[in-house]
Amino acid sequence: MKQNPLDMPVQFLKGVGPQRARLLRRLGILTVRDLLYFPPRRYLDRRQILPLRRLRPGQEATVQGRIVNLVRRRLRNREILVLVITDGTDLMEIVFFQSPWLRGVFKLGQEIIASGKVYRRRSLPVMYHPEWEVRERTSGPLRTAGRIIPLYPATEGLKPSGLERLIRTAYELAEPYLTDLIPEPLRRKRALLTRRQALKWLHFPETLQQAERARRTLSYEEFFVSQARLRYLRLRHQNEGIPLQPGPLSQQFLEVLPFRLTQAQERVLQEIRADVARAHPMHRLLQGDVGSGKTVVAIYSMLLAVDSGYQAALMAPTEILAEQHYLVLWEYLQPLGLEPLLLIGRQPARERWHTLQKLERGTGRIVVGTHALIQDTVTFHNLALAVVDEQHRFGVAQRMELVKKGLRIPHLLVMTATPIPRTLAITAYGHMDVSYLDEKPPGRKEVYTEWRREREREAVYQRLFQEVQQGQQAYVIAPLIEPSSELPARAATELFEELQRKAPAGVRLGLIHGRMSRDERRTLMQLFRQREFDILVATTVIEVGIDVPTANWMVIEDAHRFGLAQLHQLRGRIGRGGEQAFCILLSPDRVTDEAAARLRIMTQTTDGFRIAELDLRLRGPGELLGTRQHGPAEFRIGDLLRDAALIQKVQRDVQDLFSEDPYLTRPEHRPLLEHLLRGQEDEETPYYVG
Ligand code: ADP
Ligand code: MG
Repeated sequence: MKQNPLDMPVQFLKGVGPQRARLLRRLGILTVRDLLYFPPRRYLDRRQILPLRRLRPGQEATVQGRIVNLVRRRLRNREILVLVITDGTDLMEIVFFQSPWLRGVFKLGQEIIASGKVYRRRSLPVMYHPEWEVRERTSGPLRTAGRIIPLYPATEGLKPSGLERLIRTAYELAEPYLTDLIPEPLRRKRALLTRRQALKWLHFPETLQQAERARRTLSYEEFFVSQARLRYLRLRHQNEGIPLQPGPLSQQFLEVLPFRLTQAQERVLQEIRADVARAHPMHRLLQGDVGSGKTVVAIYSMLLAVDSGYQAALMAPTEILAEQHYLVLWEYLQPLGLEPLLLIGRQPARERWHTLQKLERGTGRIVVGTHALIQDTVTFHNLALAVVDEQHRFGVAQRMELVKKGLRIPHLLVMTATPIPRTLAITAYGHMDVSYLDEKPPGRKEVYTEWRREREREAVYQRLFQEVQQGQQAYVIAPLIEPSSELPARAATELFEELQRKAPAGVRLGLIHGRMSRDERRTLMQLFRQREFDILVATTVIEVGIDVPTANWMVIEDAHRFGLAQLHQLRGRIGRGGEQAFCILLSPDRVTDEAAARLRIMTQTTDGFRIAELDLRLRGPGELLGTRQHGPAEFRIGDLLRDAALIQKVQRDVQDLFSEDPYLTRPEHRPLLEHLLRGQEDEETPYYVG
């Protein structure tokens, strides 16, 4: 097959040396494709230049003039640069604060074009930090005058004009190869542009409408390709799964459980049993809010693999969570004569080595770990089922890596604390079957939550001590283990000492945090459960797996430092025993608006679904998806919030397409198929390519 210039590394492009290639890499641009799919962050309409005399405060405008005065001032340690320009009709000021890189850039008499919002200062119009361009040579029109200008995210050392030129070169090179990934009928149905037209208008539109249509088309394409890829992958693995049957271990596990399964749990186990009995690999998402009892489902599923003579793995997003799961599993599996293994990055070399040996030989049946599980050094004897606990972070790419670990394709169960807003669910999980744990174990009550400030802190603790003296048990949570000079936040160790000083005689305190050994933590939890002490000062190690039904009080220090999902998880540790539970969020007297919004939400609802939706609105999907760190799953052009409606259309279209032509054999689906196949060889972005 002929080399597709879209895959060409940018350094082979005319005008790109090693230096520029490095700058581009910083923007995530490695290939010609990346360059073409690098969207402007917005556009400037410079087709109309307004005379200065006609400027009105509040309007967005583009003006052009000559620099007639240039003043540099200092104001309370702030450096200010003021340009005065004129176009013959009036004067205008352009003001820059603290912009040392602008020193020496502007000269008297120079022609400048500027776009920005107009303000009025004394009697003159003024713009603050406008988008600007000065004429570099003495003649010729300004590059940006009279056009619509794409504005790209800036990077130091790479001028916008330079980037625009590169993109033009890239476009000209690639244009003949831009086959449509979206089949024509769909393109028509959704009124989309061809790929060629869309990329052209994305970067070089003549009107803002063209730019908008380009963006819509390319967002569609991006969602379309990612959905199609996930579906196609699933399909390819059609008959490569491993049928599993229930046996003595899974049976016994259910028999020794100290409680009866909820109906929701029964139903989900049924769904999973049916899935794994087939040769088609399971691909199931389990949604269930904090405390809905997902762990039991996970353990049962893993035991199905062990019963059939295979291995199972459970992957957690952090080391602490992995260790907590490990402790919980250990308690459940010990009575069955099974010993779970642990594999995390921070682990004694010997222990790690033994774990790896046991996994390879097959003597280890169940392993819990972090993404350490998907490293090359890990070889499974016969992995048949993987559970991924994503909590509130979703890692599509890592999940798929785990699937690759099997000789055949392991069954996959992904668990999340319910509340994935609909659009996120579609993009991250659209290709999966879904089970819901929509019922909590009996006897749960809503946790009553209050937000209190620093000035009320003493009163909060006095009240807590009273409650404890009357028989309550409590958690007190702090963000840090030890005090830190960098982060002004409470530390568990200090807090423990402070409360020990303050507590009335007879109130017993314990301390638990992630730097203690596993055994120590296990012992402490047992002691707390046996009521050997009343107040447990803890870090977020208690976020999962900890279960003391008699603990009904919680104080969270520096609550403004925690994310909503985390607060929700923490709070889920109390209110498990059927009695009214209380949670108090402590914060400094003053917090940012965003923090205040989070804390207020916590006092208003305990509904995980609602909390997640509000979280999405506050934080944006990037962070919620946890893709900031794992680049591949991030969408470059599409926006999960803005494009919610579009995403739903894409999902329907992809479904239809695959039900009509599951193997993409029709000629009109050929470019899509080739694109999907190519993406699989691409190691760096295995499952998402723009
Ligand atoms: P999550 O869904 O948050 O992972 P867990 O699996 O940790 O929830 O379960 C929360 C608590 O509820 C655990 O202590 C667990 O033992 C208990 N639990 C689970 N299922 C039931 C049930 N059917 N009846 C009573 N308690 C249950
Ligand atoms: Mg859990």
